[in-house]
Amino acid sequence: MTGRRNSNYQDLRHGPTSGEIEEPLPEMRVVVQADLLVGKALLVEERFRPDAVAAPPGCVHLDLGHAPRPFPTRPGSTLEPMAGRGYKTEAVVLRSIRFAEADRVLHIYTLERGRVGAVAKGIRRTKSRFGARLEPLSHVELMLHQGSGELATVTGAQLVRPHSDAREHPYRLAVGLVGLEAMLRLFTEQERNPRAFEVLTRFLDLLDEAEARAEEPALDPLVLSFQLKLLWLSGYLPHLTSCAECGAEGPLVGYSPRAGGAVCERCGADSLPLSAGGISGIEGLLGSPLADAQISKPAAREALRVITSSYEYHGGFRLRTVATRG
Ligand SMILES: [Zn+2]
Repeated sequence: MTGRRNSNYQDLRHGPTSGEIEEPLPEMRVVVQADLLVGKALLVEERFRPDAVAAPPGCVHLDLGHAPRPFPTRPGSTLEPMAGRGYKTEAVVLRSIRFAEADRVLHIYTLERGRVGAVAKGIRRTKSRFGARLEPLSHVELMLHQGSGELATVTGAQLVRPHSDAREHPYRLAVGLVGLEAMLRLFTEQERNPRAFEVLTRFLDLLDEAEARAEEPALDPLVLSFQLKLLWLSGYLPHLTSCAECGAEGPLVGYSPRAGGAVCERCGADSLPLSAGGISGIEGLLGSPLADAQISKPAAREALRVITSSYEYHGGFRLRTVATRG
């Protein structure tokens, strides 16, 4: 277990020049049965948007091969418009890594293509045309050029929402970084998912005005709700309405990541403790819009444990922004 976790810390720590490629993990996809999700999915769906459609079950992919790699550099500036393979998209900057002398490699989540890696050349020069627009949390509109390498090149950037109110406030920033890391780890594919983009931008909009509501940023109701919705969009929403192992209606006493949800006493041998209050707290977050996210303090701890163990079991990762304890 320890070895597996450790191998997953790599990709967020290493810069693009490290030349190390993340060690692939054994694939552990668990398909959540569609019928188990229907009732809950519809409920969440309604809160998302009226025109949402059902999420495909089981589409979390392991974060393989998406560590930034060396890419062919072109001589001279690539900022001038290039014909052919340019496209415009709204995007959120998830992560920004220094690269070469004045450049940055950006991990962005785009409306048009899902997760994209892009290089912003010259961004670290004081007179960069991008200014401070491409910071993590920024919601921008980008012109991207997809060359032959894996990384796109940013050829133009306009702010949609700067989210400076979130970035300049320590509590909000810490909450925001948990959310961005969850997005980084769960949505690794270049694959359009407008609902994921929508929930991400809504999370950031609400973050601008968020009060410090929890002792630890990771226990904040907004970011817990955001992550539960991301798990739902990924097909990994924990099943909490009956025993995920045997189907008994209850009483449910624990949470089993392997079973994909809450379990009864008979099936709960290796499960994590999960109280009735924890279950209803999680269901409350799932059943209400992000803007109305609220949960009691004890239930928030249980919700975090369910989220964390879902990440570990299904994706083989832990969030570095979430300090883990016991
Ligand atoms: Zn059972």
